[in-house]
Amino acid sequence: MDSTQPSGPTPCNKGIADLVSHTLKLIDDGFTKFEKVSDETARMRIAICEGCTEHFIVEERRCDLCCCPMDFKVTLKYDPIKGVQILKKTPITCPIGKW
Ligand code: SF4
Repeated sequence: MDSTQPSGPTPCNKGIADLVSHTLKLIDDGFTKFEKVSDETARMRIAICEGCTEHFIVEERRCDLCCCPMDFKVTLKYDPIKGVQILKKTPITCPIGKW
């Protein structure tokens, strides 16, 4: 192991996150609508993210933990990735439990 490498969380892969998010938005705009939370819940979630000084990247409106573009993620009721993987509805959450 290279001891000159900085320690800390692994940087998120923005390219993959953007590809996945873009694909999910196309699906959502097209033949399948993902279940959404209420506007009030989405507003509450994004307000929490915007106040998350540790992980919210203001310029990109992205979480540096999950790498997700948050304006879309906060609207979703279930995690589309985990839902596909394990064939059940898994509520979508903040990775550190803030919402
Ligand atoms: S999802 Fe959670 S960790 Fe990420 S920016 Fe929002 S509140 Fe912070």
